[in-house]
Amino acid sequence: MATETTTENTIEVLDHGFVRLDDAMADDLSVVNGARVSFARRKTELDESDEALIRFLMRDRHGSPFEHNAFRFHIRCPIFVAREWMRHRVGSFNEFSLRYAKATDDFYVPEPEDVRTQVGKPGAYSFEPVDPELAQRTREELEAAYEQAYGTYERLVEAGVARELARSVLPVGAYTQFYWTVNARSLMNFVSLRNSEFAQREIRRYAEAVEAFFAARMPVTYAAFVANERVAP
Ligand SMILES: Cc1cc2nc3c(=O)[nH]c(=O)nc-3n(C[C@H](O)[C@H](O)[C@H](O)COP(=O)(O)OP(=O)(O)OC[C@H]3O[C@@H](n4cnc5c(N)ncnc54)[C@H](O)[C@@H]3O)c2cc1C
Repeated sequence: MATETTTENTIEVLDHGFVRLDDAMADDLSVVNGARVSFARRKTELDESDEALIRFLMRDRHGSPFEHNAFRFHIRCPIFVAREWMRHRVGSFNEFSLRYAKATDDFYVPEPEDVRTQVGKPGAYSFEPVDPELAQRTREELEAAYEQAYGTYERLVEAGVARELARSVLPVGAYTQFYWTVNARSLMNFVSLRNSEFAQREIRRYAEAVEAFFAARMPVTYAAFVANERVAP
């Protein structure tokens, strides 16, 4: 994993980003009690029969008992990652506003080993490393473009142009931040699709971080998800 835990609840991702678990109301018991209410039964401690129940629900795709919990994340990522993320409609988002606040000058510059070329056809690309010279040139060209874009943005804002318009010049490598609240069922769908070899490398790093928080809070559910070949119920 290309992630590093900095504090108990924050995992740093990419060069200026993070996933921070702001709060969670999430444990394996919520799944069990959501399912057992069908029989007017409620547990306060998880036992082996509950673990078996979770595995059964996952395997047979009884999905709704996995919805009685919530993870609230605070995320900082490049705009292109946020665009992919916000395609996941089942969940709630609030994002940093470039109408109301001034943009920062943090932009995504990949590490040299993350500069890659794509080989093959759409839908079946593989991504291969480039030689060190091209990796370095890519980084430098990105930095130069970011500097120019941000300089233009600042000049326009200082000249009195509204932030909502001046932001047009900012590239998708600019960092944004947002809150995301999601239940375990939708989180598993996200992780299944985005911590996958088919997902773009950058969002995959974020999905790895989300997955780590999920695994820590709901270990039995997580193990069942993995045993079910990472298919969300
Ligand atoms: C590798 C990859 C490449 C992608 N490429 C593209 C691309 O080129 N262009 C593009 O536009 N998108 C692309 N996407 C986005 C993708 O099509 C989905 O929009 C995104 O992954 C969200 O998935 P989801 O709909 O399952 O999640 P959510 O929106 O969170 O929905 C969760 C689940 O709820 C149900 N659901 C939600 N809304 C509806 C609905 N309206 N009708 C019926 N069921 C619903 C579905 O079962 C869905 O799986 C890509 C995603 C991946 C992972």
